Amino acid sequence: MKILMSVLAAGLLALTAATTAATADPGQVTTQDVHAADACYTWSRSLSQGATGDDVRQLQIRVAGYPGYNAVLGLDGEFGPATKAAVTRFQQAYGLSADGIAGPQTFAKLYDLQDNDCTPVNFSYDELNNCNSDWSGGRVSASAAKANALVTMWKLQALRHAMGDRPVTVNGGFRSVTCNNNAGGATNSRHLYGDAADLGAGAQGFCNIARQARNHGFTEILGPGYPDHNDHVHVALRSGQLWSAPNCGI
Ligand SMILES: [Zn+2]
Repeated sequence: MKILMSVLAAGLLALTAATTAATADPGQVTTQDVHAADACYTWSRSLSQGATGDDVRQLQIRVAGYPGYNAVLGLDGEFGPATKAAVTRFQQAYGLSADGIAGPQTFAKLYDLQDNDCTPVNFSYDELNNCNSDWSGGRVSASAAKANALVTMWKLQALRHAMGDRPVTVNGGFRSVTCNNNAGGATNSRHLYGDAADLGAGAQGFCNIARQARNHGFTEILGPGYPDHNDHVHVALRSGQLWSAPNCGI
């Protein structure tokens, strides 16, 4: 019995040591971490300020919802101070060691959060496009529209998490010119670019969603009190800021 207790104690010690080691994120990305990844994308090295490359850009897409209030994270493949701050906010949001370095823990959380098609678990390409099946006919190429929608979904995932992980309803996103005309959309609508989403009230309510969206990389937020936006909140990315939801104090 005494021997068994010793073995158990040793086991507990080993477990504690392993747990402690895993909390520091500037660790090496191991073969085990790579194998834990899914079919979407796998990071093969830890990333910190000064790093450049497509792996940085892939990271930026996934933390695009953490730019801070009234800011947008550049998706340029260069890990600068803004990317470090976004990674830190992401880590804080998920209770990780918040050092601004994307290592095994951060990647593991991102793998948890993404589907095999790279969309975040709680949103899908289908939700962001009820216009057509191939993302064609907008103001940008089909691939650009789809890529824009992906970034929007990661922003929505951040918004959703910040509001208690309750469902966020997406009633529409990308529109071709034809779909936009049919919907009576503005000729320069961001829906034509794929980065816009129209959100339902959900349990959160329109105004809370509109207010929260200001923290997640949306430069266009239109909601209650703005013409034709009393029944949804429209979020998108535009050059320059347009926030208007007068009934919400925005
Ligand atoms: Zn809209």
